[in-house]
Amino acid sequence: MRSLTDPTLLKSQCYIDGCFVGEGRVDVTDPATGRVLAKVPDMGADQAVQAVEVAAAAFKSWAALTARERSTVLRAWFDLIMANRADLAAILTSEQGKPYPEALGEIDYAASFVEFYAEEAKRVLGEILPSHTTDARLLVLRQPIGVVAAITPWNFPAAMITRKIAPALAAGCTVVVKPAPETPLTALALAELAHRAGFPKGTVNVLTGDAVAIGGVLTSHPKVRFVGFTGSTAVGKLLMAQAATTVKKVALELGGNAPFIVFDDADLDAAVEGAIASKYRNMGQTCVCSNRFYVHDAVYDAFVDKLAARVATLKVGNGFEEGVVQGPLINERAVSKVERHISDALGKGARVVAGGKRHTLGHTFFEPTVIADAAEGMQIAAEETFGPVAPVFRFHAEAEAIAAANNTESGLAAYFYARDVGRIFRVLEALEYGMVGVNSGRISTELAPFGGIKESGNSREGSHHGIAEFTELKYACIGGL
Ligand code: ADP
Repeated sequence: MRSLTDPTLLKSQCYIDGCFVGEGRVDVTDPATGRVLAKVPDMGADQAVQAVEVAAAAFKSWAALTARERSTVLRAWFDLIMANRADLAAILTSEQGKPYPEALGEIDYAASFVEFYAEEAKRVLGEILPSHTTDARLLVLRQPIGVVAAITPWNFPAAMITRKIAPALAAGCTVVVKPAPETPLTALALAELAHRAGFPKGTVNVLTGDAVAIGGVLTSHPKVRFVGFTGSTAVGKLLMAQAATTVKKVALELGGNAPFIVFDDADLDAAVEGAIASKYRNMGQTCVCSNRFYVHDAVYDAFVDKLAARVATLKVGNGFEEGVVQGPLINERAVSKVERHISDALGKGARVVAGGKRHTLGHTFFEPTVIADAAEGMQIAAEETFGPVAPVFRFHAEAEAIAAANNTESGLAAYFYARDVGRIFRVLEALEYGMVGVNSGRISTELAPFGGIKESGNSREGSHHGIAEFTELKYACIGGL
């Protein structure tokens, strides 16, 4: 790993009840080199129960603080994250693989949720409603829901944590985080900074280890009132079922299968840049990455040529190397899926126009790829690839493109490029997705509600909507007035 300005940010212990505990046992490896970076504890059900209980004990006093007091601690955490952004990004690139400039961008994005919800803490508002009788008044209080569990993925090791726990903490909840086994070091460095920021003990807890055992406790312990999860649809469904027995609120951000439609009136150069941003960021490993490109027949060949030429310029390598914009994929399983999708498509009549195979750098490096003549019936049309492959489908009519885009169980992000204002509204309203980028390949910001519909999820993170998720409404009828 690149040497850190503050080496004490590299932790090999979990953070429970304000202390770093446990012994490093499980390897964390660098996907670019295969080298072991550190070892983290292998915690299980007992430690998960302990973490939930300390979080429950801390909840009363944390929730009882004024919003301004909680805001001050969150703000201190934000300042520390920004002051240590270079080290945090170095840890992130080392364990996850994304290029260092992109890792810096993720740290800024992660921090933006902490800053935003430090401010938003002061704007959790109740209501006084018109009364049904003259001698009563109807009040609605908004109170923090209680202990929040967060189970997070490896593709955004920092942002998926802060996007969940910053609003929870701002609302007055306490949290137990289980980061992905591939990327625990970023999570533990954030915990160290939370400790320095002055969160009271038990307010923030982070534990690594046995996902099934820890997840089992987090979805069944009666003191956990909210389970936030970002990850695969299969695991999301399992956690939702587990949480049903104690009727917890479950917030899921699951897989996407984003369509990217280019109409014949689109600005093609802008569409190519949007495609690069939405497809190849994080080597295609984001749930909002475009997975299927639908391009109108009249501009199909031009778009494919421009995209292939642009993709050929993307430099692949270790994320710390100058100019690299494509790091390694997270693991061998990810590469196998990409290979499977490409060979299935080629077997069914598609052709490779850029990349198409493992990179000569070895490990899990893969050439950024464009596939032309993609068609329904290919695996790549139905399943999220989660890798740097752009399959391009041809369409002739607007309705055909919309039907194809909606022909999936997923409903997270969609993108389209068009100039006609009537078409923009028609297509926007017809797309069955939680988020739509219109003439834009970049949509994520703390200022907007992020989330999906259908099997992509059931909640929103970011914006003022993101904090409401962590509150319960309490209605009071004050009579006898
Ligand atoms: P991926 O396949 O991309 O790793 P997962 O959905 O398996 O996505 O992982 C997302 C998060 O869910 C990780 O933190 C992982 O450890 C966790 N996880 C996986 N399986 C379970 C489970 N059965 N119970 C609880 N958490 C789980």
